[in-house]
Amino acid sequence: MPKTRFAKISIDNYIYNIESLQKFIGPNTKLMLVVKANAYGHGAPELSKAANGVGIFDFGVATVDEAIELRQHKIEGNILVFGNFKNHDMDKIIEHDLTVTISSKADLRKIKDRKIKAHIKIDTGMSRRGFYYHSIDDLGKITQLIHKIYKKTSIDIKGIYTHFASADTNYDFTSKQIDLFKNLIETLKDNGIDYGHAHAANSAGTLKYKHAHFDMVRVGIASYGVLPFEQSVFKPKPVMSLYGFVIDIKKIKSGDFIGYDRTYRAIRDMTIGVVNLGYADGIFRMLSNKGHVSVNGHISKIVGRISMDTFSIDISDIDVKQGDEVLIFGYDKINNIPVNDVAKLCGTNSYEILCAVKNRVRRIYSFEPNKN
Ligand SMILES: *Cc1c(COP(=O)(O)O)cnc(C)c1O
Repeated sequence: MPKTRFAKISIDNYIYNIESLQKFIGPNTKLMLVVKANAYGHGAPELSKAANGVGIFDFGVATVDEAIELRQHKIEGNILVFGNFKNHDMDKIIEHDLTVTISSKADLRKIKDRKIKAHIKIDTGMSRRGFYYHSIDDLGKITQLIHKIYKKTSIDIKGIYTHFASADTNYDFTSKQIDLFKNLIETLKDNGIDYGHAHAANSAGTLKYKHAHFDMVRVGIASYGVLPFEQSVFKPKPVMSLYGFVIDIKKIKSGDFIGYDRTYRAIRDMTIGVVNLGYADGIFRMLSNKGHVSVNGHISKIVGRISMDTFSIDISDIDVKQGDEVLIFGYDKINNIPVNDVAKLCGTNSYEILCAVKNRVRRIYSFEPNKN
C-alpha cells in the first residue's frame, strides 16, 4: 500500500453485503442500492459498476449531477434521483434516462409536458419532502391527487415511496408510517392506478420490518457494512478502512504537552507517533484525547488535539516504526475498529463519519476479502 493517507475499499465485501441483503429480502423484493454522496464516500462509480456486475440495476442518488456521473461511467439500469430537480435539468434528465422524484405540485409544474419517468414521494410523517399524508383522514385527498398525476400522459409513474423518520429507534412511529403507506397503495390498487414499484424501507427499515419491504427496498448504510443499530442477525462486512501512516516518532519527557492548546500532558516519559491524517481528511476533532487507532496489531490512544493534517498517538509501550500503517476505522490484519464506535465518540452517526472522508484521501479498490 502507498505511504500516504488512503481509504481501502473492499469490493469483495461490498458484493458480499449485496448478496447477503438479497438473501435477506428474498426473490420477490428488488434491491435498490443507495449510492448518493459518492456512495457515502466510498466512490459511487466504482461500487455501482461492481453492483451492475452482480445483477443490480436499481440505484438511488440525491442529485441530478450524481446520476449523470453514474451514466458517464456507463452504469446501467434505473437511477432514481431522490432530491430536487430544476426546470433546466429536464433535457439532461431525458438524455441520460434518469428517473425523478415528484415531491410537490411545484415539481409537476417543472415537468410541464415533457415525457419523464418518475416516482411519487409521499410524506407519511417525516415532514420533509413528499406529498403530505400524516393521517388516514387524508387518504381520500392523497388518492385523488395521485390519480390526477396518473392521468397526465407526460408522466410515466414507475414508483411510489415514502421514507421512515426513525426506523432504527422508534417501532410505534415506524409502524404507523408503514400502515399509512400500505393503506395508500392498497387504495391505489383498488382504484386501478398502476403506481409501479412501491417502496419505503431504508437499511434500518429493511432489517427490522419485514412487512415494510413492499416491492423494493432502498439500502445505503448496510451495504457499506455498517449497521444503523446494534444487535442484528444480519452481519455485513465493512467496506471502507481508513488508513494513514506514522510520519514521525519522537520521545517526549514527563511534563511535556502535546499538540494545540496543550490539552495532553505527559505524566511520564513517552514515545509518540505522528500520523499524517487530520480533520482536513475527515478525522473528527472530537476524537482528540478520546479515540484510538490500530497500528502494528496494537491499539494505541490518540493523544492531544487532532490538527488539520496530523495527530499523535501514544506508542510508548508498543513496537512501531516510521512508515507503519495506522488504521482509523475499518479493519486491518489484526483489529477491527467499527465506524459506529468512532461515531459514538464523536457524538454523531456512522453516516457522517463515512461522508466526512475527504477527497485528498486516496481511494484504493481492493478485492481481498475481509477475514471476518
Ligand atoms: C439516503 C436514503 C436512503 C438510504 O438510507 P440508509 O439508512 O443509508 O439505508 C434511502 N432512501 C432515501 C430516500 C434516502 O435519502
